[in-house]
Amino acid sequence: MRPKILITDRIHECAVEEAKKFADVDLRYGISQDELIELIKDYDALIVRSGTKVTREIIERAENLKIIGRAGVGLDNIDVKAAEENKIKIVNSPEASTISVAELVFGSLISFIRNIHKANESMKRGKWEREKFMGNELYGKTLGIIGFGRIGREVAMRARAFGMKILAYDPGITVEDAREFNIEYSDLENLLRNSDIITLHVPLTDETENMIDKRELELMKRDSILINIARGGVVNEDALYEFLKEKKIRGAILDVYSEEPPRDYRLIKLDNVLATPHIGASTDEAQINAGLVIVEKIRNFFR
Ligand code: NAD
Repeated sequence: MRPKILITDRIHECAVEEAKKFADVDLRYGISQDELIELIKDYDALIVRSGTKVTREIIERAENLKIIGRAGVGLDNIDVKAAEENKIKIVNSPEASTISVAELVFGSLISFIRNIHKANESMKRGKWEREKFMGNELYGKTLGIIGFGRIGREVAMRARAFGMKILAYDPGITVEDAREFNIEYSDLENLLRNSDIITLHVPLTDETENMIDKRELELMKRDSILINIARGGVVNEDALYEFLKEKKIRGAILDVYSEEPPRDYRLIKLDNVLATPHIGASTDEAQINAGLVIVEKIRNFFR
């Protein structure tokens, strides 16, 4: 029997085609809550992104539903507890954007240390200000990676290609991991004290909330750069603002914020901040992967 899949948020066309190879697929993008409540009882699987709210009411009406696929990372739009109570499995695809995020780290970092973003703006204003844009090389610098999971490891591999020295802090890694990736395992304090560039790749949890606060910023070198492409809330933004404003660290690269979109832009507007609007996963490839990974997980589930 072919399973019936309902897709209510747009996923990439090639992922839809893959799903059609093993299932009967209905696309209902932009469907209302009421319509979904009516329809859901006919389906074995539901695929969403962040748009569809999968509420308890929907789950309780989903007589045949066995699996929910969230193409992407967060599960904020799904009532996970209701799904568990009704024995409905949830799968997501955090691995789909790993490479895109790792590449953004270096895109932003090189832009920052070579002033590319500023030089471009200056040229657009019709100026030729070569003397203003002296920069630095990555070669020989120490990169501190906090959180050595999927993204942290991809960052390490790319950092090696730039000739950087790598320190990594992650209570979850083993001596073998450190050896395999040819990095130096460090405790947090040593990493903060000795890195020229520090990049965060941890999830936001009770433990990691504000893990970079005044005390940690105090330990960083005066000319160091902090990168947060992980989650807003991991860095205390008020403390970071003070340190950047007083030039107690060289700069910050931010893609994520404690509030999105931010209400307060004062941190972002500082001259020593390079900011992007949470675009870590915003590539064609990450979006295609997000759909393909979910469809593959659902295919395996029904197998
Ligand atoms: P992952 O689960 O593979 O790795 C996270 C690592 O953090 C794990 O190895 C874990 O042991 C480690 N960790 C947990 N708590 C820690 C702590 N207190 N100190 C040090 N290390 C700790 O996750 P990932 O796929 O590498 O993603 C990392 C982060 O990147 C996630 O928070 C994710 O939400 C974020 N992310 C951001 C974007 C974006 O658009 N900017 C896109 C994708 C992912």
